[in-house]
Amino acid sequence: MVWQFYKMDKIAVKKNAVWFRQDLRVNDNPALKAAQQPGVPVMAIYAITPETWQAHDWAPAKIDFVKQRLLELAEELKVLNIPLYCLELKTFADIPVAIQALCEQHQINAIFVNRQYALDERRCEQQVRQACAVSWHEFDGNWLLAPERALNQQGEPYKVFTAFKRHALGQIASPNNIQLGNNQAERALTQFCQEALLEYQTQRDFPNIEGTSRVSHYLAQGVLSPQQCISAMMRACGVDSIGALLNLPGPATWLSELLWREFYQHLMWHYPSLSKGKAFKPETDALPWSEDPLLFEAWCQGKTGFPLVDVGMRQLNQIGWMHNRLRMVTAMFLTKTLFIHWRLGERYFMRQLIDGDFAANNGGWQWCASTGTDAVPYFRIFNPTTQSERFDPNGDFIRRYCPELASLNARDIHNPSPTQRQKLGYPQPAVDYKMMRQKVIGAFKSLKGISNGKD
Ligand SMILES: Cc1cc2nc3c(=O)[nH]c(=O)nc-3n(C[C@H](O)[C@H](O)[C@H](O)COP(=O)(O)OP(=O)(O)OC[C@H]3O[C@@H](n4cnc5c(N)ncnc54)[C@H](O)[C@@H]3O)c2cc1C
Repeated sequence: MVWQFYKMDKIAVKKNAVWFRQDLRVNDNPALKAAQQPGVPVMAIYAITPETWQAHDWAPAKIDFVKQRLLELAEELKVLNIPLYCLELKTFADIPVAIQALCEQHQINAIFVNRQYALDERRCEQQVRQACAVSWHEFDGNWLLAPERALNQQGEPYKVFTAFKRHALGQIASPNNIQLGNNQAERALTQFCQEALLEYQTQRDFPNIEGTSRVSHYLAQGVLSPQQCISAMMRACGVDSIGALLNLPGPATWLSELLWREFYQHLMWHYPSLSKGKAFKPETDALPWSEDPLLFEAWCQGKTGFPLVDVGMRQLNQIGWMHNRLRMVTAMFLTKTLFIHWRLGERYFMRQLIDGDFAANNGGWQWCASTGTDAVPYFRIFNPTTQSERFDPNGDFIRRYCPELASLNARDIHNPSPTQRQKLGYPQPAVDYKMMRQKVIGAFKSLKGISNGKD
């Protein structure tokens, strides 16, 4: 079935098609721009593939977001006289035939795409390319730096973030004042740059403060491009180069986060085994990971008895998004306190997150679990109580998502006494933190060939 958001004229002329994927935007979209040629009609295509989305663990919140965005995109394209065809299919395997049929039906002679880096997406793209007898035009519209351009002097991919970042900053051109439109994503970006960017480096770790941009779902679906983000920063700060942004602590830190996103995408491109569920350090698969379903369930439901962990999980379950500090705390707690395999947590996150992005999620999990490249050293384990005292000092965020603890004062709320827990109906700690810490560090230590995280 085909949703036709805008009626095509019936005149038989050659057409260009833009196949949209993770680039659901009109502004700063190189594939769309290149397809818009004088006198050549353009149509847009998007493939809805619920069975593949399910196999890829897309969260309901993410699917709703994408469908909502497609409606907006159709309106934005309509202004450009470009109809959007949404192909309702089942899996990626259906896409080549469906696009080929559309090409024949509409006499499309060229397809324009922004490249994707994930393995299944790359394979699917290849199959569409083979199936359609059209000229193919691809661009790197979703990332700051194509992975082929981010290699070290030996021609190898970077495995350490700081070296990658140094290289990337030397390669990325400062974007020319890219104008933003007025859709929700663009407004959110502008607002963040005007109101929170300059304080980002001091505010970003506190979940109770609106100190981060909250644009991750827009970036994950390409509703915003990273170039637009940099351009918006430059405009808000009144500077004309990336170099000048680097002199400002807030923008420099935010830019670094955009580069972490890029780094994980590059790892996914260069190491396809990551997309097949493999640890970057394969020796860590030999760790005696726990398979305790009750502990895993307590973690999923936010009932571990460790308040900061529980509020992180409850935030995720309630709004489909979790603050970065809490993603680190909860992921590290699952893997290096409950000692449950990171793959289970990775999948649970993916199934809830509106901004679920394979590369960022996998990278984040393998960082926390010390199984990734340039990951946190295995002996560094966040203590959830100390993290709570440091990043939610008054306990206000805990009160928001753990209302049963709301009556406790700022000292007790991070680790209530057994009597307080019993009285308030809050669980006792699911495990003995200190004992588990020793056990996990011991298990990592006894692994043959495990590095201290500095490889
Ligand atoms: C275990 C774990 C899982 C994660 N899963 C995802 C995920 O599925 N999707 C996702 O987009 N991010 C993920 N992140 C990274 C990060 O937590 C989110 O990008 C961030 O919390 C989104 O909020 P924001 O837009 O306000 O971020 P900001 O702090 O405003 O950062 C700006 C943008 O930079 C990017 N970014 C920031 N931090 C990271 C990072 N550590 N790695 C990669 N990109 C980053 C995001 O695109 C983000 O929108 C994960 C982190 C961890 C530790």
